[in-house]
This record gives sequence, structure tokens and C-alpha cells, in this order.
Amino acid sequence: MNTVTNIISFDIEDWFHPEIFAGKFPQEEWPLLESRVKQDTEIILNFLSRKGLKATFFFLGWVAERYPELVTAAVRGGHEIASHGYAHSMITKMAPGEFRKDLRKSLDILNALSDRPVTGYRAPTFSVTRDTLWALPIMYEEGIRYDSSVFPIYHDRYGIPDAPRSPYIIYRENGAEIMEYPMTTVPLGKYNLPCGGGGYFRLYPFPLTLNLMKRCQRSGQAIMFYAHPWEFDTGLPKVELGLASRMRHYMGIDKFLKRLDVVTSRFPFTSFREASRDMLLKV
Ligand SMILES: [Zn+2]
Repeated sequence: MNTVTNIISFDIEDWFHPEIFAGKFPQEEWPLLESRVKQDTEIILNFLSRKGLKATFFFLGWVAERYPELVTAAVRGGHEIASHGYAHSMITKMAPGEFRKDLRKSLDILNALSDRPVTGYRAPTFSVTRDTLWALPIMYEEGIRYDSSVFPIYHDRYGIPDAPRSPYIIYRENGAEIMEYPMTTVPLGKYNLPCGGGGYFRLYPFPLTLNLMKRCQRSGQAIMFYAHPWEFDTGLPKVELGLASRMRHYMGIDKFLKRLDVVTSRFPFTSFREASRDMLLKV
């Protein structure tokens, strides 16, 4: 018996946007770098179309502004448009006023291109942490109704290790409400092991990923799968990085599409918007 609705989402950003490059490539230099987000996102769109899947696309405003045709192609494919902020700044590095400006800028661009109002947000580098909960009322005021940014793990850059592992109401005040869809983890002793996508999907041995996903399904927990366009790009420009960062960033890219094909054949996936019809979710 399997009635769990899993969610598949993509954070649409270029290869130079991840936090790992924040010191190397400042925003002023982005327009000078080779952009690969268009061709990489097209790989995702073609894959989803071939599999008949609907997904949520958390677009970076900076990307949507340069390639509006990617947003309209996602809309045409029946996918949900959501926000990944404008300039890929971690909330932990912004003041409340800066955060509002960044979010609003992305929403202005995306709402003009989307077929429905944008209500979903994923913070760059999962930066909704204990220190940035002040961002939630601002999100609500700007039209956000669900967030998918909390990682219930210990990590050097992000995470709320003791946050709930299933969807919960993260903010509620005077009738205002934001649902949180935390990234998927499986409890292992006193720690939570991530198993929902991105680097974890590339670095773990594939049988381990499948096993963890099976465990999620058996216990009735939905899998929140996430990935980035650059994770499908076997021609990614190679940048000098330390060994750990290099592994985290480049390993397993050649296997990503094949693995995703297997996972989406074994488990049912859809977008946040579609899932809200099946689950007790307010999206
Ligand atoms: Zn990102």
C-alpha cells in the first residue's frame, strides 16, 4: 500500500550561484561568466516531460530575469513556479529589510511570468535556521504561504537539527500561517540522515539512497526530492576548490539523470501544488 505523495523540486540557478562560490564570483561578475542554466534546465524539462511528471521550480529571480523563456516553458509544462530569492543570498547574511527587497524583487519577476500567484519559497542554501525565523512574517506579508528550506540536520552552513521531520506549521500569527516542508531525513540513532536529493543523492552509494527512500515510504513519510540544473551538467566548468568542496560539488554528476530516472520510476512524485490536492496541505 502506498498513498504517500512525494514532491520533486528544482532550485533553478546557474552553476556559479552556490554558496561555495560566493567568495570567488561576486554578483557583479555573474554576467561575465559562461551561463549554462538554460541548457541544463532544458535537460530537466525534457526529462519531466518524457516521464509525465509535474514538479515545482524554485527560480532564482536573477535567472528568471535573464531567461524568462525558461519560466514560461516550465509553466507550459504544467509545473509550479516558486521563488529561490533574487540574488542567492543566504538569509543568515541579510538584514530584514534586505531580505524583503530580495524576495519581493524575485516575486515581481516571477509573478509576471507565472500562470498563478507564486506562494512557495526555498531559501538559498537552506538558510531558514533558528537565527532567521524573523524572515517568516516577512515572507507571509509578501505572499508566501509555504516554505521548503528547513533541513533537520547538523551541518556547517545550515540546519535546525531538532526541527520536525514532517510538514508542520512553522509560523502562525493572527490568522497568518506558513507551512514548512522540511527536507527529507531518516533518523539514525540520535542523528537524522538526509536522503532527499542534491549532493546527498550524488555522494551516497545508490543502493543506500533507495533503501532510505523505501524506509520513508514504508513509514508514511513523503520524500521531498530536490536538485539543481548544474547537477545534470557533465560539462560543468571546473573551478579550483579544496578536496571536500570539490567532492561535494562535482561528484556523481554523470550518474544523476540515470539515478533520478530509477527513483521516479519506483516512487510517485509531483509538485507541491499538485500534492496539496492529495495531502492535508495548504499550498
Ligand atoms: Zn540555491
